[in-house]
Amino acid sequence: MQSISALATSGVQKLVPYQGGKPVSELQRELGLSEIVKLASNENPLGPSTKVLAAIQAGFSELSRYPDGNAFALKAALSEKYKLTSEQITLGNGSNEILEILARAFLTTDSEVVFSQHAFAVYPIVTQSAGATAKVIPAINYGHDLSGMLTAMTDKTRLIFIANPNNPTGTYLTEQALSKFLAAVPEQVIVVLDEAYFEYISKEDYPNSIAWLAQYPNLVITRTFSKAYGLAGLRIGYSLSSPEMADILNRVRQPFNNNALALVAAEVALSDTDYLQQTVALNNAGMKQLTKAFVDLGLSWVASVGNFVSVDLKRDASAINTALLHKGVIVRPVANYEMPHHLRISIGTQAENEFFIRALKAVLADV
Ligand SMILES: *Cc1c(COP(=O)(O)O)cnc(C)c1O
Repeated sequence: MQSISALATSGVQKLVPYQGGKPVSELQRELGLSEIVKLASNENPLGPSTKVLAAIQAGFSELSRYPDGNAFALKAALSEKYKLTSEQITLGNGSNEILEILARAFLTTDSEVVFSQHAFAVYPIVTQSAGATAKVIPAINYGHDLSGMLTAMTDKTRLIFIANPNNPTGTYLTEQALSKFLAAVPEQVIVVLDEAYFEYISKEDYPNSIAWLAQYPNLVITRTFSKAYGLAGLRIGYSLSSPEMADILNRVRQPFNNNALALVAAEVALSDTDYLQQTVALNNAGMKQLTKAFVDLGLSWVASVGNFVSVDLKRDASAINTALLHKGVIVRPVANYEMPHHLRISIGTQAENEFFIRALKAVLADV
């Protein structure tokens, strides 16, 4: 009998499916636990904003119609916010879709793609799906080695993925480091700056990357409504770029890749500054709460500017992860990111963080 997998392209044959955080309902089914805390997918623990929920409800009556494929209203709101033109904005079904569109638009089986060790798992997936070759550059202290990435570029390099900050490490690159890097990248190489956690960051030396767009037509900045805006379930993200780049991405994009409710929700979410402020304040407090607990437990962690932190358990983390699951806590093992001793904890509400800390203390007392 014909093997179907043998028919797939060689890149796809070698792909390992993306492993997301375990859904709460799955753990409930498996273990029959009543109380479960999920801190595994960097979701917003506040839940969606009430203003957004009202807008979604108002959108129900239009569901028999196709959404606005050009997303006029949302692009207008984004362009107003960022002082860019609508022609510089591309919307994706999550920012992950933008990464995939970039791969489809620019990669062939001859292309090389440069990204860092420990970098976001979607980069190797889209690279391999396109049959291109990944050049994975060893990290330095869990952060990107920008000069190593520059050195790895060849005539075949078409894309560079940079997560700033990176997930699952939470490390970030400064304005100074990145501006030097951009100036050194050849103009035929597309630099994808993935800023999925942008809204959480208050570091003085974190770049205002939008200012670089005028200078670098090969720069693509991706952002999302999944994290700080609390809309992971609706799947909506976007890129900011030169108009020429956006035009290319738009040719590849499916005509109605954003559903109608996601479009109205994102537009209202952008204007809900109170929700965003609450989100960031809760995150800052939660980061302090978790890192204080790590200090108490004698554990170290990778300093993170995102809404998550990877803690070093100083031994294989999988048994600890399993023990946490049995206590109703879902966090994220990161062995597939070459970090087998770490677990990534998404920052939750104060009560969720406390639940996790108590579970971790109990588990560690047992091993
Ligand atoms: C969560 C995340 C994304 C965004 O995913 P969406 O598709 O927008 O939900 C992109 N990049 C990184 C590094 C992330 O962690």
